[in-house]
Amino acid sequence: MPETPEQLYERARDALRTPPVEEWETWPFEGELHPRALEPPEPQERPRRGEGGIGCKACEDPGDRYLWTDDHWRLRAFDRPTGLPVIVLLEPRDHYAEPGDLPDELAAGLGVMIARVERAVRSVGEIGRVHVCRWGDGGEHLHWWFIARPARIPQLIGSFAAIWDDVLPPLPEEIWRENLARVAGAMSA
Ligand SMILES: [Zn+2]
Repeated sequence: MPETPEQLYERARDALRTPPVEEWETWPFEGELHPRALEPPEPQERPRRGEGGIGCKACEDPGDRYLWTDDHWRLRAFDRPTGLPVIVLLEPRDHYAEPGDLPDELAAGLGVMIARVERAVRSVGEIGRVHVCRWGDGGEHLHWWFIARPARIPQLIGSFAAIWDDVLPPLPEEIWRENLARVAGAMSA
């Protein structure tokens, strides 16, 4: 029997830990920290944006803002410069909520697409790693993150890169656009 959220809450609420983040080279902040009080479970999962494709931004988007598209997939960036050199999102054209919802043919193509987008992002240069991630707790329309961190700055390695993106100042607009143009060029090559 899996632990219910209520059981987890009762077990954990007075037993929260603070890992020694201040000793971690990759932790972006200084100063003493305390964990937030754990809030009790809600009666149901909160709805995600665009549930069931209703009011879904990805479904409604005609495609102008995408860096690259084909019959099944689309690749897009955000509207403004990021702190990290490149962040792009890969989405299926059609609305699927979870990786396990993809038809087998599309799921098989996804492997090829992930490798292709990763190569395209890496081709920008001065990239230490391209993190490939899927969270999916915000918008329901399936999307994979490709998060490029700069090379040779050990503090920026690992999963905190996603937080460092908001800590680092945004890239100069021109460099950001050039980076995205290189990704788009590599996808089309
Ligand atoms: Zn959608």
